[in-house]
Amino acid sequence: MYQQAKHDRRLIMERDGRSDFDLPFLNELTDQDAVVPSGMRRTELDLPSLPEREVVKHYVNLSQMNFGVDNGLYPLGSCTMKFNPKYADYLTSLPSVNCIHPYQAEETVQGALQIMHELELALCEISGMDAVTLQPAAGAHGEFTGMLLTKAYHVDRGEDRDEVVIPDSAHGTNPASAAMAGYRVVEIPSSMDGRVDLEALKSAMSERTAAFMITNPNTLGIFEEDIQQIAKIVHAAGALLYYDGANLNAVMGRTTPGKMDFDIVHFNLHKTFATPHGGGGPGAGPVGVKERIEPFLPVPRIVIKDSKYKLDYDRPESIGKVRSFYGNFAVLVRAYAYIMRMGGNGLKAASDRAVLNSNYLKKQLMDVYPLPFRELRKHEFVVSAKPLKDQRGIRAFDVAKRLLDYGYHAPTVYFPSLVEEALMIEPTETETKETLDEFAAVMKRIASEDPELVRSAPHNTAVKKVDEVYAAKEAILSYRAFKRRGAGPKA
Ligand SMILES: *Cc1c(COP(=O)(O)O)cnc(C)c1O
Repeated sequence: MYQQAKHDRRLIMERDGRSDFDLPFLNELTDQDAVVPSGMRRTELDLPSLPEREVVKHYVNLSQMNFGVDNGLYPLGSCTMKFNPKYADYLTSLPSVNCIHPYQAEETVQGALQIMHELELALCEISGMDAVTLQPAAGAHGEFTGMLLTKAYHVDRGEDRDEVVIPDSAHGTNPASAAMAGYRVVEIPSSMDGRVDLEALKSAMSERTAAFMITNPNTLGIFEEDIQQIAKIVHAAGALLYYDGANLNAVMGRTTPGKMDFDIVHFNLHKTFATPHGGGGPGAGPVGVKERIEPFLPVPRIVIKDSKYKLDYDRPESIGKVRSFYGNFAVLVRAYAYIMRMGGNGLKAASDRAVLNSNYLKKQLMDVYPLPFRELRKHEFVVSAKPLKDQRGIRAFDVAKRLLDYGYHAPTVYFPSLVEEALMIEPTETETKETLDEFAAVMKRIASEDPELVRSAPHNTAVKKVDEVYAAKEAILSYRAFKRRGAGPKA
């Protein structure tokens, strides 16, 4: 069971031995104003002064209060928390990767440009698209880029379209990204079997529709078999079909968004392609497009000219830049390493195993946690804690918290919203059968535990049950904010 670290829980800013820190080199400067003008200089640096040993202990202990993908099973549905291979971290630690600067002359970073170019080609192959930009920094940023591309495409054709259609099972970032790009969002309900309702789709499409955004398999883990028919309906209305490819873990090497007739797709390298994520990044959300949308991609594009890699800014139809520099390079290197190491067959095997693991685990859980809609799932599935709530007063939220006591990260809860008391579980391909068996046993055990014990969980973690509303609404993210605000909810 998870052991609470026994150490000094004071903030490092509150530890003894604090004194004003000074930077000797600054005091030696004769003209300090030339470095930082006096009006902008802090006279007192509010930093603790502690021996290195104390600082190391403090941060290592803090890290042990946390839970990461290297601690244990992290079945967070939709988020694809798979193992991040260490060879990829090693490669990004090389000076040739982490000591270069994005503004270095192109001829001095040919290798870096080659990696990015080849990663673009690999992603084209994996997605069945014709061109890829690596610039966006996250999935949602990729969606936003995709929406800007959609707009540029329609404007170029002299069309004024202002609506984006999205199914009710969509990830929350989809409507948010469409709205940020200035579109009105039209939501359509799912059919009785948890898929896109074709009649609802038909009646939502019009000459105002710019795009239909979906993910396939959808967030229930169900594959939209009618995808080609969906594509026909969308294209017949003159709209584009957008693929939320945050999680390609079910389809890599089996099929592609290109084959399904999608026009634009974003990838989450920090999910499917085994690069670390959590805590807000960094990530990478490349966007792939079909040929007719390629002219609008962000600048610069990486091109080969006279056998050299170059950055091409001369693209008059481009939507411009969506990010400083060229993307999160270290994330790109990790994804490139992963794809090269796996190869096409390896990626396909990863998808196959992710789908197998998901269905294996689903089967073990569904007698206690019912599975709504049809049975066959892809890389993830959604079960419901509704019977537990009705019969024993234990909600999905409580199950999630109790899992922490057993050393598991919680699954995604209350999403997608069309399932009551939803627990969305994605085991990924990198977990063993033994791990899945143990997890299933714990899930079932929780269902029969004393309801009060479950409702008051977690009991074994470093931080006990927190006030989630207060934590979300009043994030105190720095010591200065903490000092200003003080701890605890306002009376
Ligand atoms: C994670 C996710 C996103 C958003 O990706 P971020 O990198 O978190 O912005 C979008 N769609 C789906 C289906 C996702 O799982």
